[in-house]
Amino acid sequence: MGEAFYADGLKFSCNRCSACCGGEPGYVFLSKDDLLSLLSCLKLDFRSFFHEYCRLVDTGQGRALSLAEKPNYDCIFLGKGGCRVYESRPLQCSTYPFWPGVLESSRTWKSESSVCPGIDKGELRGRDYIEERIAQRKNAGTVLFDYGADPESLGADTILGS
Ligand code: SF4
Ligand code: SF4
Repeated sequence: MGEAFYADGLKFSCNRCSACCGGEPGYVFLSKDDLLSLLSCLKLDFRSFFHEYCRLVDTGQGRALSLAEKPNYDCIFLGKGGCRVYESRPLQCSTYPFWPGVLESSRTWKSESSVCPGIDKGELRGRDYIEERIAQRKNAGTVLFDYGADPESLGADTILGS
């Protein structure tokens, strides 16, 4: 296999325009750490958080926990001033645009700049930085419920400890 196209790094600086936070259908999957962090930030128990901010997505292996969307496809946490939980935003958000699909080739990277104006701007991010983001996301995983499980009957301790 040839060397990754980003071997010499890629430029990226987020200007917090929120363009990646809505406007079209998408999923923001939550890891256990994301869930813990959001519950603490919002001071909610899991049941209330699930009711207000989540949905389940059938992955074929179970149902994955994702943030809900507004009717216009904006993320449920997108407000007038941007992300309402920015300091506790999920890893999927904080590692964007360093996602495997976007990093498939120089073509997919360039093409993503139609969504994200921070691509190819500002700070040069080295290969190690980029690969660390890919690994962080892979290692974090996603909260997944069995088909038979009722998420609302489960406490956060059960979910986080499972
Ligand atoms: S959680 Fe925040 S950063 Fe992530 S998509 Fe929603 S509004 Fe954007
Ligand atoms: S679209 Fe790019 S520049 Fe805008 S908030 Fe998202 S990551 Fe930052």
